[in-house]
Amino acid sequence: MVEKKEKKLVTSETDEDKKISLRPTRIEEFIGQDNIKSNLNTFIKSSLKRKKNLDHIILYGPPGLGKTTLANIIAHEKNVNIHITSGPAFTKKGDLVTLLSNLSGGDILFIDEIHRLSPIVEESLYPAMEDFKCDYIIGSGPSARVMQISIEKFTLIGATTRLGLLSRPLRDRFGIPLQLEFYSPENLKEIITLNAKKLSILIEDSAAFEVAQRSRGTPRIAIRLLKRIVDFSVVEDSSHIGINTVLKSLEQMRIDNEGLDEMDRKYLRCISNDYNGGPVGVETLSAALLEQRDIIEDVIEPYLMQRGLVQRTSRGRILSKKGQSHISKEFE
Ligand code: ADP
Repeated sequence: MVEKKEKKLVTSETDEDKKISLRPTRIEEFIGQDNIKSNLNTFIKSSLKRKKNLDHIILYGPPGLGKTTLANIIAHEKNVNIHITSGPAFTKKGDLVTLLSNLSGGDILFIDEIHRLSPIVEESLYPAMEDFKCDYIIGSGPSARVMQISIEKFTLIGATTRLGLLSRPLRDRFGIPLQLEFYSPENLKEIITLNAKKLSILIEDSAAFEVAQRSRGTPRIAIRLLKRIVDFSVVEDSSHIGINTVLKSLEQMRIDNEGLDEMDRKYLRCISNDYNGGPVGVETLSAALLEQRDIIEDVIEPYLMQRGLVQRTSRGRILSKKGQSHISKEFE
């Protein structure tokens, strides 16, 4: 019974292994995010030296920046098991209790999208994080009894797109908050070249740098673009990827020189043409673009803001001069 629930909640190691084989497994293989790496190195070494548990960690930043990868690296460096699950996978309090009571000492529990835990599950996480205890309900109705059980000392690693999405009490229980930033084109170029090697294809330096500049500062996008460019180059019977193949493929995929795709441009065009450059509220944009608010705020906007194309003000989103000029070029 217990085993069945574990399977539903936690990604089995064999499935994950396959996905992870392309991922870096050691901290020195993780490219960029130097500040995070050096801090983590210290915390991991200290916990190993003191033979103490690593404090709970919250990783936050836009999707595709390496939160899951880092959680796996931490487990690898600490030589402990990692149990991978996500906030929406918990439908009731009992799910969490089952999972927690199956952990071994020092294990890592990784909860992706931790901001999507239901309030009742979240509350039962507090005593587990603080005192390694959780409430276990026996029976139901008026005769139900609450028993407190001890669980093994574990490290919770939570991942979320924005720290502000977490409730204050949950946020305060993480001793190590780590914010992942968008990657520089130099770091992305390194990731692209390494992944091309893993895919047994040669990519010229200038070609890798071009892809890096168009990857929205995000390794997941860089790797995805690389795979599609490999497809184009295979069809062309090319033995290696040069700048011409990259430019042609990116044009075919309608990725522009800022790395923006059709959805990004639709967003910019909507503010520019339908709302006169803004300000316009996110709910209005969500309705106009037929896109969920979460996607707009977590996936589309962070990069556009980082590039200075859009500004978020108390009255709504405004297109910057740079944003306006970028979208006008489309019609030249
Ligand atoms: P997140 O959990 O933040 O959404 P992931 O950890 O799933 O992101 O990373 C997305 C992809 O990018 C994975 O294939 C991963 O291997 C790769 N990746 C992310 N960060 C790095 C990095 N710093 N160095 C190399 N590859 C990376």
